[in-house]
Amino acid sequence: MNWHTPIRYVPLVGPAFEARLGKLEIYTVSDLLFHIPLRYDDYSKITKIGSLKHDEVTTIIASITKVKNIFTRNRKQIQQITLTDTTGTLQLMWFNQPFIIKNLKIGDTLAVAGKATTRGSFWEMIGPEYEIVHPNKSLLHVGRLVPIYPQTAGISSKWLRSRISILLNAPWLQVDYIPADILYNYKLPDILTALKTIHFPNSLSEIEKSRERLAFDELFLLQLTAKIHRQEWRQKQTIPKLTIDAKKVAKFYESLPFTLTQAQLRVVGEIFVDLQKETAMNRLLQGDVGSGKTVVAALAMYMAHLNGYQSLLMAPTEILAQQHYATLSELLKPFKIIVDIVTSNTKHVTRKKNVSHVTSHVSPHILVGTHALLEKSVEFDRLGLVVIDEQHRFGVKQRSLLRSKGKTPHVLSMTATPIPRTLALVFYGDLDFSYIDEMPIGRKPIKTWVVPKAKRDGAYAWIRKQILAVKKTQVFIVCPFIELSETLTTVKAAKEEFEILSKEVFPDLKLGLLHGKMKASEKNEILDQFRAGKFNILVSTPVVEVGIDIPNATIMLIEAADRFGLAQLHQMRGRVGRSHQQSYCLLFAENEVSKTTFRLKNLETCANGRKLAEIDLQLRGAGEVFGTLQHGKELLKIASYSDVELVQKAQKATFDILEKDNLLSAAPLLKERLISSTIGEIAPD
Ligand code: ADP
Ligand code: MG
Repeated sequence: MNWHTPIRYVPLVGPAFEARLGKLEIYTVSDLLFHIPLRYDDYSKITKIGSLKHDEVTTIIASITKVKNIFTRNRKQIQQITLTDTTGTLQLMWFNQPFIIKNLKIGDTLAVAGKATTRGSFWEMIGPEYEIVHPNKSLLHVGRLVPIYPQTAGISSKWLRSRISILLNAPWLQVDYIPADILYNYKLPDILTALKTIHFPNSLSEIEKSRERLAFDELFLLQLTAKIHRQEWRQKQTIPKLTIDAKKVAKFYESLPFTLTQAQLRVVGEIFVDLQKETAMNRLLQGDVGSGKTVVAALAMYMAHLNGYQSLLMAPTEILAQQHYATLSELLKPFKIIVDIVTSNTKHVTRKKNVSHVTSHVSPHILVGTHALLEKSVEFDRLGLVVIDEQHRFGVKQRSLLRSKGKTPHVLSMTATPIPRTLALVFYGDLDFSYIDEMPIGRKPIKTWVVPKAKRDGAYAWIRKQILAVKKTQVFIVCPFIELSETLTTVKAAKEEFEILSKEVFPDLKLGLLHGKMKASEKNEILDQFRAGKFNILVSTPVVEVGIDIPNATIMLIEAADRFGLAQLHQMRGRVGRSHQQSYCLLFAENEVSKTTFRLKNLETCANGRKLAEIDLQLRGAGEVFGTLQHGKELLKIASYSDVELVQKAQKATFDILEKDNLLSAAPLLKERLISSTIGEIAPD
């Protein structure tokens, strides 16, 4: 047995419990041992029956002197046990749990914990925790600090406790996988001590150190995996080096209706360096919404084409894929590049054609698409570059599947979700980063206001005035969910909002409705109509968050803005401000406490996505930052990304160890441990 042994091989688990454990995301021995308590019940006070106090939680250890199962008139059963020690007797009672007395007999020593009450002349405990006392075996469930775990149907804390305690005696656990010098340098306890303490502490004061060790391990293993992937990736031979034809590049620049920003040019330079290497590019391009990532990707794909290679561009939604298809076709038209599109909705006409010409070698030079690109029928013989837009919206498997459509193509991932640097290094330590940190000139910062409730009517009046004054002005109104749900009763539903707005607030204007439950074709239609100016106002759920480009939209109103992170709001407001006109963003909060307003006010003054993400990280923790990042939450169970100090420690330890021994040959246990961490799932992108 080892860290990566599947959970069904653990003593007393087996296939029957495997599925239930899956609900707790426990698949391996490692997952079980790192399933740490939520809290502890304190049953550590052990007393004699004679010194019981009313309503006090204590543990009693005494002999069973009577066992009884009573059938009541209404067919219920009561289990009764009497315990006796030299100081008195204690009556125990359970209802309808006949299994309890099956294994208990007179003369056994039983330990029970709970609150005792007096009933007439004797003491009584109802439904106490209990455990048979065996000589030479320490107590697990009573008589100590007892761990309470996140549990699920059929997997109780008691169940987990007994399995974990058996595991903790395994001989292979005696040797730590982290080398001693690292433990020493970072003042960490060894793994067995840490695990024993966190699951079965002697006192609460011991727990912190152990928790730190386990949290460190999560971060350390994660980063180590990323770095090793990076090394491996670097060794992979790609398609032959590409050459960059400076003249063609200049022609491309000339063909554009704008000049690239300094930041765009710098990033293009970084990408060109990668493309001319023998190893595959694996780069993450971060840039705020509207910073102009697409044109950079287009140029890279053009370069691939000039070298005789095809490119793929995958986007998370149909709308985005369509938009990229249109943009790329337009940008690359002067260079006679065939761009095509595959989505689940291009099934009947285009897709068939696509697939057939993909497979019959009359291939497009660039194929744009959604998840539909992942299908087997989409094949390439000369895939040189894969571009993944909004990369965090895709799972690891999807990304590596896409990559596998070529030998080892260059990969350019793009995201508008700003990731604070500390976190980026944890998650994407295996990537090179590029940033477009500058907006095209002429873009005016979006004027943003947090609007108090009292001024709602005023805001509506102002919006109407803008629409009437400046022809073509269009407005987004974003509401969080499509229908009222019971738990979120206060949230304005877009549908309902749409009714109210169109009947009562803006009866004289034209409104459209867009929400996530619509079919892609319906969404497209609505957006096309909006783009064509058929509506003044588009009421929508946050589906508009990702990538639609409607230059006339200059006003955005966001309802219940306090439900979103700052970076997310920033991304959303990036849907306006796409032209030379002044744009505006109005934020309404559901909950107008000063803390919320204070947080939202950052948007009034800051227009930098990465800075806003840092503020989110500080104010609301990493869950917020990673709310939209796919592999955020699930990877860390114990550590927290906002513990910057520990993140840095783990970073440094990763660096220390790889610097001396980049293949971990001196730390075989650690190397093996990496395989087992579910974290190993992260592909190098
Ligand atoms: P994003 O980074 O959000 O994907 P896009 O690539 O969609 O941004 O670009 C947003 C808009 O800005 C597009 O209409 C694009 O043509 C335009 N654009 C890109 N680069 C520049 C530039 N350097 N100057 C002016 N407009 C630009
Ligand atoms: Mg984009």
